[in-house]
Amino acid sequence: MSSSAWEPSTWRSKPIKQAPAYPDPKKVTAACDELTRLPPIVHPAEIQRLKASLRDVAAGNAFLLQGGDCAELFSYCEQSAIESKIKLLLQMSLVLIWGTGKRIVRIGRMAGQYAKPRSSPMETVNGRQIPSFRGDILNGFHEDERELDPRRLVQAYHHSAATLNFIRASLSSGIADLHRPLDWGLGHVQDPALKEKYSAIATSIQQTLRFLQVINSRQTGLETVELFTSHEGLLLEYEQALTRLLEKPATLTSPETGGTASPTAEGPAAAAQPRKEYYDTSAHFIWIGDRTRQIDHAHVEFFRGIANPIGVKVGPSTPLEDILDLLRTLNPDREPGKVTLITRYGATKVRDLLPRHIRAVEDSEYEGCVVWQCDPMHGNTVSTPTGIKTRKFNDIYRELQETLKIHKEQGSYLGGVHLELTGDAVTECLGGSEGLGEDDLSTNYTSFCDPRLNEKQALELAFLIADHLSQ
Ligand code: PEP
Ligand code: MN
Repeated sequence: MSSSAWEPSTWRSKPIKQAPAYPDPKKVTAACDELTRLPPIVHPAEIQRLKASLRDVAAGNAFLLQGGDCAELFSYCEQSAIESKIKLLLQMSLVLIWGTGKRIVRIGRMAGQYAKPRSSPMETVNGRQIPSFRGDILNGFHEDERELDPRRLVQAYHHSAATLNFIRASLSSGIADLHRPLDWGLGHVQDPALKEKYSAIATSIQQTLRFLQVINSRQTGLETVELFTSHEGLLLEYEQALTRLLEKPATLTSPETGGTASPTAEGPAAAAQPRKEYYDTSAHFIWIGDRTRQIDHAHVEFFRGIANPIGVKVGPSTPLEDILDLLRTLNPDREPGKVTLITRYGATKVRDLLPRHIRAVEDSEYEGCVVWQCDPMHGNTVSTPTGIKTRKFNDIYRELQETLKIHKEQGSYLGGVHLELTGDAVTECLGGSEGLGEDDLSTNYTSFCDPRLNEKQALELAFLIADHLSQ
């Protein structure tokens, strides 16, 4: 644990995993200087609004839906890819509102999810050993673009900014307007019992929306919603350059009502005197991945100094004693909702590991302080006999169901889900109501990293969670 002085650059004196060895450090410095001059991508007031929402999640009064690509590419920065992802997240959140009866906090793995940790620095492609693809912010997927290129740091900024600009424009222009009829597209569901179940939920949602329209809900905020952005905070050169000492916003405005939701944590007196904090303005929320959460290493050092809400991946390789050390380092003031623990064990290991992790936290001074979020994707990755990386829909749902059950048994609250998904009709995960099999994977497998749920599988998962929670 570290309580020494913090600066956005203090991580540089710590050991670090997954660090890029750029061939020309001068070019990295030039790119970071340029990033430092550019304006923030997100605003502290938005970051504080998300923090307030996550405080509600930690208290059990809201539910967090986070989703998007494993590796976002610069080429995904185009209208239809962004729109289909926003629409999918909105439709899933509607189903989850129905199931949970709670407000849904939405975070996209979007507008900056460009850096990927890799298990090996090299890989074999067409019989040749070449550097692994590490995400568009570092190098390119094409074989000829595998050299690390510092110009990509600035390109990542511009692609993030353009993506977020279009998200904001879409949301403020009615993409989320629930007065429009929704297409639930359940034609593909082959099992009649499941189809009936999903149709009943969709019908119930439609009826509620029609009712709200009849009683003239035009002023009740059905036209727009808030969608926050997130990515893994892996490339600390980039995160440092976008970290700014900014005034803490005095009051928080509720995303849904436009009214004042809650004062700052210190109360109205402190709110009258804004003070400065370090905000990582690259996204509203960033998380530490499974490979970089070592307590005395660079990533934890960087994350402990920023005011953003943050996530930490927790998996089978997390030592039990590290969990409290991480919380004490990352959230010494015990702000509720500041840290989201993103658990990703795999369907076969969750029963053994999650209960102890819950007890370690909930029997400590951090009781009720964290957001527990289930990532049912990363512990369930398998390879087909022909070497294609995939995940079974059933394993994903099994880990989620088991996680829900365990939290219930332990008296804790599962506050959210973290999914890899896309709004497109890809064929990367097996199963689901379309019954995708191994032979179907080649039809439209476009992920450059982990396999994602397609739009039908993602919505189906939302139906299953909603059905489970509503019982
Ligand atoms: C990811 O979220 O894409 C990822 C790499 O996950 P993890 O750090 O849990 O392996
Ligand atoms: Mn992934």
